Amino acid sequence: MNLVLFGAPGSGKGTQSAKIIDKYGLYHISTGDVLRDHIARHTDLGRLADKYISKGQLIPDAVMIEIIDNVLEEKASGKNGVVFDGFPRTIAQAEALEKLLKKRDAKIDGVIGLEVAEDELIKRMLQRGRETGRTDDNLETITRRLEVYRESTKPLKDYYAELGLYLSVDGQGNVDDIFGNITKGIDSMVKK
Ligand code: AMP
Repeated sequence: MNLVLFGAPGSGKGTQSAKIIDKYGLYHISTGDVLRDHIARHTDLGRLADKYISKGQLIPDAVMIEIIDNVLEEKASGKNGVVFDGFPRTIAQAEALEKLLKKRDAKIDGVIGLEVAEDELIKRMLQRGRETGRTDDNLETITRRLEVYRESTKPLKDYYAELGLYLSVDGQGNVDDIFGNITKGIDSMVKK
């Protein structure tokens, strides 16, 4: 089972991914975590990624697609499936993901979209910035990230809805209640 956990920045993708992989034994790919790890290790990719992340912009598609290809090859093969968290973020990434999975006789089984109001997203990211020191969680970068989300990432909702794969879940409220709704969604996808 391969799932995409979809949503705006601050919608709770990281928190809910951790719970999903625990329950379903899937492999978690968070592209944001992969990039932050490269930044911390001062690799070439980290230096490139930092330029984009600090401005709230997306890393070029070709770079992201290569990262996903490598993770699928090296880390995710032989697992029950994958939760994609933070990828795809553009239509070009979604099309590439389909091809990368097809090459491995796999496909996306469902896309769960966490719906959270914008004022709540901003509140959550500012709080995360204070608690973790995450440098792109400041108001200026958050504003840019939300613009980029609306322009480049949000169109994926329609893209996956047309494929019959999109399931929207209320991402506000209690973490366990949200997870309960996600598992209902996943279970209904599995039965299909
Ligand atoms: P996240 O942790 O998912 O919020 O990602 C943090 C930042 O990493 C984003 O604001 C982007 O700059 C970059 N990033 C993460 N995933 C992607 C992706 N799939 N495509 C382009 N940039 C990405």
